[in-house]
Amino acid sequence: MASPDGELDDRIDYAIFADTQEEPEPVYDHLRWLQSLGGPPILVDTAGRLGDDLIGGTNSMGQRFASIPAFTSATPGQTGGMLRRQCTAEYKINVVERVIRRQVVGLKYRQRMPKGVKVVQYFGLSHDEPRRVSKVRNRFVGHPWAEGRFPLFDLEITHSDCAAYLKGKAIPHEVPRSACVFCPYRSNAEWRHLRDTDPAGWARAVEVDEALRRPGTVANRNLEQSIYLHRSCLPLAQADLGGRDVTGGVAHSECEGMCGL
Ligand code: SF4
Repeated sequence: MASPDGELDDRIDYAIFADTQEEPEPVYDHLRWLQSLGGPPILVDTAGRLGDDLIGGTNSMGQRFASIPAFTSATPGQTGGMLRRQCTAEYKINVVERVIRRQVVGLKYRQRMPKGVKVVQYFGLSHDEPRRVSKVRNRFVGHPWAEGRFPLFDLEITHSDCAAYLKGKAIPHEVPRSACVFCPYRSNAEWRHLRDTDPAGWARAVEVDEALRRPGTVANRNLEQSIYLHRSCLPLAQADLGGRDVTGGVAHSECEGMCGL
């Protein structure tokens, strides 16, 4: 899988980007830059615009909305609960699998994977993310045609090793973190970064945050508590983003759909 100097020697046929259509603009700029390099084709697919589906009350299948891991509270400013995270499966994992089945292998809708086909997926999870590696590994149990590999984890390459590696490359911009602009898995430092560097992304996050509490929004149906993107359970536009980072600054530690890389 890797040569002694750590370079992958397996041939990569495709890269896949499951687009929630809610990434910050620098992620799309980075995607375009990657596509301009002339490497393996980058296949982009989407299950819809996640924020619109949240507000409109549908998921990618036109059914009841797929929830994001937002915070809930009966009283503003008091910690309550958290919604189930369904977005990763619907808008990332299922999209990647659909691309593999339809575009990479060429199967028709519901067609079974032919015997003898083997698809190897590489995940860029670093050595500091053993829980996410373990969760992703479990997804491959019972799928004999698929295999997951974790080159960074196996080579004991950490997140800071990756940052140092990227700094040494001639990349004409800072490599951005991929995650929906309104993802609640965000530290205060990350919220501040979004607010201070990406006005459009911040405006979208505030818009979705407010919409989730609007009376009549399907996300609120049968819910006695209100929904908030910020863990303080205050409206995002009013939340104190200078507060202590209770996440320890590590966002997306639970999102094995590769959100947040
Ligand atoms: S980045 Fe956050 S909101 Fe977006 S799909 Fe992942 S967990 Fe859901």
